Amino acid sequence: MNDLTPPPPALGCRTSPVLKQRGQREVFCGLTGIIWLHRKIQDAFFLVVGSRTCAHLLQSAAGVMIFAEPRFGTAILEEGDLAGLNDAHKELDREVARLLSRRPDIRQLFLVGSCPSEVIKLDLSRAAERLTKEFAPKVRVLEYSGSGIETTFTQGEDACLASMVPVLPETDARELLVVGALPDVVEDQMLGLLDDMGIGPVRVLPARNIDAEMGIGKNTVYALTQPFLSDTHAALERRGAKHIQAPFPLGEEGTTAWLAAVAKEFGVDRALFDRVTEAPRRRARQAVAAAAETLNGKTVFFFPDSQLEIPLARFLARECGMTPLEVGSPYIHDALHGPDLDLLPEGPQISEGQDVDLQLERCRELRPDLTVCGLGLANPLEAEGLSTKWAIELVFTPVHFYEQAGDLAALFARPIRRKSTLNHGESSSDPLFAEARA
Ligand code: SF4
Repeated sequence: MNDLTPPPPALGCRTSPVLKQRGQREVFCGLTGIIWLHRKIQDAFFLVVGSRTCAHLLQSAAGVMIFAEPRFGTAILEEGDLAGLNDAHKELDREVARLLSRRPDIRQLFLVGSCPSEVIKLDLSRAAERLTKEFAPKVRVLEYSGSGIETTFTQGEDACLASMVPVLPETDARELLVVGALPDVVEDQMLGLLDDMGIGPVRVLPARNIDAEMGIGKNTVYALTQPFLSDTHAALERRGAKHIQAPFPLGEEGTTAWLAAVAKEFGVDRALFDRVTEAPRRRARQAVAAAAETLNGKTVFFFPDSQLEIPLARFLARECGMTPLEVGSPYIHDALHGPDLDLLPEGPQISEGQDVDLQLERCRELRPDLTVCGLGLANPLEAEGLSTKWAIELVFTPVHFYEQAGDLAALFARPIRRKSTLNHGESSSDPLFAEARA
């Protein structure tokens, strides 16, 4: 197949100087990933070994999703445990035994570390090994850290998937592995497109249940759908699998480039590729164009949060006519983010890590039309008259692949439209706004 990678701008951002900041950061912790992972992996249970704060975070973040038999919980470390007075390992074993005897539906148990378990240096890998021996083969016990000391909120998913890679069986089969938790409906769309091109067998990590899991080996080729999976990427490389580098499937162009990279690896004919993608590409372009009317010519500033910032900036610049002023990402990894940086037109300050006060100063000085940031920064910036978009919404909303491209653009257009409506109202003599101002 001919190369379908979109032509890069005369100067992309791959070699732009990166402002590296290592100061105070404003991000959620990696426990947040449990909110989407527990729905995706249907026979898993996530047991956070943490404090009441961790339990509250999960319960309030999961809010409406709590049902009769939740698939996450918190083993709360009491003050005595924190002071090292009790044997936390014995208590953990007791909790796990109680949970697994009550819940025969659990086939995978993730012990999730948190700040308190990091602080008292509770060795969860030892616990996972011990419990695996006890409960194998019915239940597999793995562990990872979601501690706010160590992770940003999307790194929780990365740590979870990376913990699964070493225990997957060995295979020599040539298979495509698509890596990243997507909503089922989006995953099905993606699998449908690959199937129509004759690409297969296709496996997905995380699988919906342990029986659907795949093997890994030197003939496995994998494509990432999320830009925050650098540890999982490293774990797969260690197993000898081959990474298909591509821009991420956000927007029409990103999706086409991602599919084209996979199609090229599997020798798909150009005519077949065009036939399969033509209609959804057209639909995606039309849907993006509707929202892009609001976004065209506007500026955008990204605080580092979800690690989706670079592909999103590429989408907003190239498909929606926006001008990114600063694109901040918690981490930049060339193998993952390079293809999107190639396509992002030169101009924005690329920054990695955070020193939040300095970054706020830069943002205030530039006064972008839209600021993409975490919840903690959004309210103060709104109070200063800046329009904001919560980065976390972009992870909770289906935004990947063709059919979601219009929704993705609309997510960014909404705060700009709201601001312009409010401005219009304030300058009008509408008594409703006069009342609100008073
Ligand atoms: S892991 Fe740390 S940052 Fe996250 S809720 Fe628990 S105490 Fe807070």
